[in-house]
Amino acid sequence: MTHTFLYGTGAFEGIRGYWDDRSGRMNIFRLHDHFQRLDRSARVLRSTLPDSVDRLCEITAELCRRNNDHEDVYIRPQVYKADEVIGPELIHRTDAFFIFSLPFGKYLEKTTGMHCGTSSWRRVQDNMIPARAKVTGIYVNSSLARTEAMENGFDEAIMLNANGYVGEGSSENLFIVRDGKLVTPSDSDDILEGITRKTVMELAHAELGVETEVRHIGRTELYTADECFLCGTGAEITPVTKVDHREVGSGQVGELTTRLRDLFFEVVRGRCPKYSDWLYPVNAA
Ligand code: PMP
Repeated sequence: MTHTFLYGTGAFEGIRGYWDDRSGRMNIFRLHDHFQRLDRSARVLRSTLPDSVDRLCEITAELCRRNNDHEDVYIRPQVYKADEVIGPELIHRTDAFFIFSLPFGKYLEKTTGMHCGTSSWRRVQDNMIPARAKVTGIYVNSSLARTEAMENGFDEAIMLNANGYVGEGSSENLFIVRDGKLVTPSDSDDILEGITRKTVMELAHAELGVETEVRHIGRTELYTADECFLCGTGAEITPVTKVDHREVGSGQVGELTTRLRDLFFEVVRGRCPKYSDWLYPVNAA
């Protein structure tokens, strides 16, 4: 009867820890940012985190230490409404929290160029269920879109928002490349404000001198883009080489996508000291 099980009222995060063989430790990527977003998602649901963001980071490190993880992991914290009660209201409920980690490799199987399909399912609007909040119930929208895409023979869905503009994948943000610039849907386009998306924009600017236009993207821009990729904690940076049976650009993995992906892996694997602030190290017990 748990409220969150009955009504989908949990706020959660998906976080990656990268195992570094050389130093013999786990580096959790942008952990603080994830808990900050969890706090915002929780506020939408009128929930509160059980502790400060700093303390939750320490608890996450402790979890990895106790699990004795020696490989890449996926970490999922969730705030949920624990009362066993009938009635969907968010107030007068008791918040609870869990966190688990498990060994995790690739999330999307096809890393060499995906074929995505525009979904017949629209992304939920801010006044329906806010996409900027990472809320469990919202993933029914993602599940429907991803299932349809898979059954239609695509690798992943691209959801348009209610206004017909490009939103995001079922659990990834989207970028296209046009005339050497990155373009990504804006924060008010009914997307999750992805941490990998932010990372991509920051790395592209600082390391490659490439700027990002944040604006509406029309569906047909996907067909005429020079490059396209999806990004997320699970997806990391995954190139899209075909959309709706049409080749994107040359139909091969794009040059900028490749440079960004290489750079991204250098950073998350701890090979770029300049970005060590983004890594939360878990030292052995
Ligand atoms: N959009 C949705 C719907 C997602 O579930 C995710 C995965 N959390 C993303 C985008 C990517 O966000 P992030 O880079 O923060 O993982």
